[in-house]
Amino acid sequence: METIYSKSVPGRRTTGLAPDPVKEGAAAFLPEGCLRKGLPGLPECSELDVVRHFTQLASKNFSVDGNFYPLGSCTMKYDPKINEVAAGLTGFTSLHPMLAQLANGQGCQGAMHVLYTLERSLCAITGMEAFTLQPMAGANGEFTGVAIIAAYHKSLGRDRRIMLIPDAAHGTNPASAAMAGFTVVELPSKDGMIDPEAIRAAIEKYGDSIAGLMMTCPNTLGLMEVHVKEIVELLHGIDALVYYDGANMNAILGKMRVGDAGFDVVHLNLHKTFATPHGGGGPGAGPVGVCERLIPFLPSPRITRKADGSYEFLTDAPQSIGKIGPFYGSFGVLLRAMAYIWRLGGEGLERVAEYAVLNANYMRVKLKDVLDIPYDRLCMHEFVASAPHGLRALDLAKGLLERGFHAPTIYFPLLVHECLMPEPTETESKQTLDAFCDALADIVAKGREHPEELAAAPHGLPVTRMDETEAARGMHLTEDM
Ligand SMILES: *Cc1c(COP(=O)(O)O)cnc(C)c1O
Repeated sequence: METIYSKSVPGRRTTGLAPDPVKEGAAAFLPEGCLRKGLPGLPECSELDVVRHFTQLASKNFSVDGNFYPLGSCTMKYDPKINEVAAGLTGFTSLHPMLAQLANGQGCQGAMHVLYTLERSLCAITGMEAFTLQPMAGANGEFTGVAIIAAYHKSLGRDRRIMLIPDAAHGTNPASAAMAGFTVVELPSKDGMIDPEAIRAAIEKYGDSIAGLMMTCPNTLGLMEVHVKEIVELLHGIDALVYYDGANMNAILGKMRVGDAGFDVVHLNLHKTFATPHGGGGPGAGPVGVCERLIPFLPSPRITRKADGSYEFLTDAPQSIGKIGPFYGSFGVLLRAMAYIWRLGGEGLERVAEYAVLNANYMRVKLKDVLDIPYDRLCMHEFVASAPHGLRALDLAKGLLERGFHAPTIYFPLLVHECLMPEPTETESKQTLDAFCDALADIVAKGREHPEELAAAPHGLPVTRMDETEAARGMHLTEDM
């Protein structure tokens, strides 16, 4: 691919602003030693060269706005453009984050209204008592949540070191627990779900060294956990806490409230369930909700509403785990989530869950004869499948890329052989799902006939088949010019 440097022609310019005020201004006050001796090695291009270059690059970027993106576990749903209108309002974009610190938020009451209303909305949606919006991602929310669990036990003078985590969990769960100082004990799942017997056995073995359990529901296989009540009771029986990884909340919005089911801590991934675009690793937001008895341990500051209706940040919380993120979280993501909730309302949020589950089941049934489906029963918002006939999941994924579809998640969860995990999300039409299923059926049929051709896919894309090991181990980060 051509870089902007390869388009550089010595002396080519766009119409500049003359004279250069920055350079002259800088020369006036910067010490001699700090001034450049020559021009920086920037490409020399016309304005049109630059515009064409970046427009063409942008069109190579794969996004939900361009194509179907069924990346399981990531909830790559469409971001309604009204979210972007809200996030682009100058009243919000021109706010400086330090304003919140000045005069305790007097200069940004509107933004604080958004934050406070979002906290209350998330409480209503999940049935939790209080939320913090500080965490910057799902994993950051997990860390916050387990740190709160640690602080809870510590406040009671207990030494509880063990966190139970099912084997199907997202990798961030054990990582967050380890970062918060816990020893992770893995629970073997049975028939794709948490087995209460495995919890009984762990309680037998570790007794009151157990601080809590982290579970994802629906789980990473796309299955609803059916023993929720029993699991919560078992852990509460030894005063251990139950953490709910809410990354898959889009499957149960308006259908089940985590707080009503007895969970003590939950994180949500606003960039998944509440629609902020999140390809390429950010930005995100992972708010954490807690039950009544954990409120004192929430990160500081917390936002409150005074009797006169104005808002302020409270920092007076002696048992708080402290500050977990800069300022008060990813404001742009929080604002989009609020816009999304306001736009859909309670009824609309419930329909999100219905359509997400309907779409996933439609695809699961339609692909029954194309892929192997290990847990062939009603799924929630996503499902797992195995590549059939000795084909590799990687090859099917690459075959999809050359047909204009983003591949589903592959090789996760680790429990399933040659795993593919499609998550259609609720925003896709039947026609799109049909086109995807037809493409996959065609890839499997052709792959069986000509495996060597499929093993070389994708054809005709800017990046074809890579040596994945070399790409990770022998990274080549500069261009040879
Ligand atoms: C995405 C995800 C996470 C991690 O969230 P990030 O926002 O990517 O840090 C944790 N658990 C599950 C089940 C997830 O799908």
